[in-house]
Amino acid sequence: MAQLFFKYGTMNSGKSIELLKTAHNYREQGKEVIIMTSALDTRDGVGTVASRIGLSEDAIAINADDNLVDVIYKNAQDKDKPSCVLVDEAQFLSKSNVHDLCRIVDYYNMPVICYGLKTDFRGELFEGSEALLKYADKLEEIKTVCANPTCQRKATMNARLVDGKQVTDGEQVIIGDEEYTSLCRFHWKLGRLKTAVMKDVDNKNTPVEEIVGRIAKASSK
Ligand SMILES: [Zn+2]
Repeated sequence: MAQLFFKYGTMNSGKSIELLKTAHNYREQGKEVIIMTSALDTRDGVGTVASRIGLSEDAIAINADDNLVDVIYKNAQDKDKPSCVLVDEAQFLSKSNVHDLCRIVDYYNMPVICYGLKTDFRGELFEGSEALLKYADKLEEIKTVCANPTCQRKATMNARLVDGKQVTDGEQVIIGDEEYTSLCRFHWKLGRLKTAVMKDVDNKNTPVEEIVGRIAKASSK
């Protein structure tokens, strides 16, 4: 029986390279795959899965209200029945997209492997990730290490940086100039506390000792 997989990880954990590797392995065995990605993610142009080490492939760009069963059927018409469906940026799927993927697995017996983030920079689940955590047959974490140079913990959180500083609120998705980094929970929380404390420090003459004291006090709560 085919299964629905959700392989999740933080930013820069190598999710896209895993997807491209899986596609390559299927094709080496003479099997067709269908690659899809969210139309929301325009970093590399609509309809591309690109890894940070330079490999990339065209993908079908999908929208929240697309019927994915139709999309897959249309794209499979000229080919053999695809052996697998691969979905990048799966956090941006809508709940209804995920239900379509369940139908593809259950009624067409086609495995679907989704790759994406679990949570946003605020630590909240994305719509697609929440649905996949509920409905996927298999969950797998793609691991990476905390970006803090002194830390060896596993990165499980995503931090949004603006001008190098971690921000704690804002829209869930911005396609712009902001950057992201992946941190362990400890460093992610510490960054949020620092931001919260610094908001209160409006007087530039506040002694550094006092700021450090406030951060230590906030983090011990
Ligand atoms: Zn850390």
